[in-house]
Amino acid sequence: MAVSLTNRQVNKLLEEVIGHDGVLVLKACDLKNGITDEGIQRKTGLSLPKIRSQLNQLHYRGLIRYNREKNQNTNWYTYTWFANKDKIHEVISSEWANYLEKLEKQLDYESNYIFYACENGCGKLPFELASEYDFKCPDCGGELKHIDNKAKVREILKEIKEVKALMKQLA
Ligand SMILES: [Zn+2]
Repeated sequence: MAVSLTNRQVNKLLEEVIGHDGVLVLKACDLKNGITDEGIQRKTGLSLPKIRSQLNQLHYRGLIRYNREKNQNTNWYTYTWFANKDKIHEVISSEWANYLEKLEKQLDYESNYIFYACENGCGKLPFELASEYDFKCPDCGGELKHIDNKAKVREILKEIKEVKALMKQLA
């Protein structure tokens, strides 16, 4: 996997799928040698019940796998966890595709409409709607004023560029 789990965008995306604690646990598993529950606890500071619940969910999703070893003296099993990079790769790719689609729709919306916003901060409306309301806010009656969304468009374009670059690394 070319993409690092420490990348900000990758983290943000994974958090949406498996949550903040899930990402912490998954990152702890990102080792060639595998890691035990206690090892994950040392690395993340999460409680063991929390870690086990995250491990169950990550395993259910196929994002991690384990080796099980029986201790001959106690007959207890020790689980060692490994990150399943192929599956992580797959989840990230599909999430990214969704995210990119969302960004492109947003870009389309922001660049094809002229926006008016309430002077009292209630929200913004496209020109067509604002003119229907006679440029008076439907919520508070305040004046609807033209706003420049070029900065917003630039922000979305930048995000799209970043996501595309990261997707390229995965391809
Ligand atoms: Zn208003």
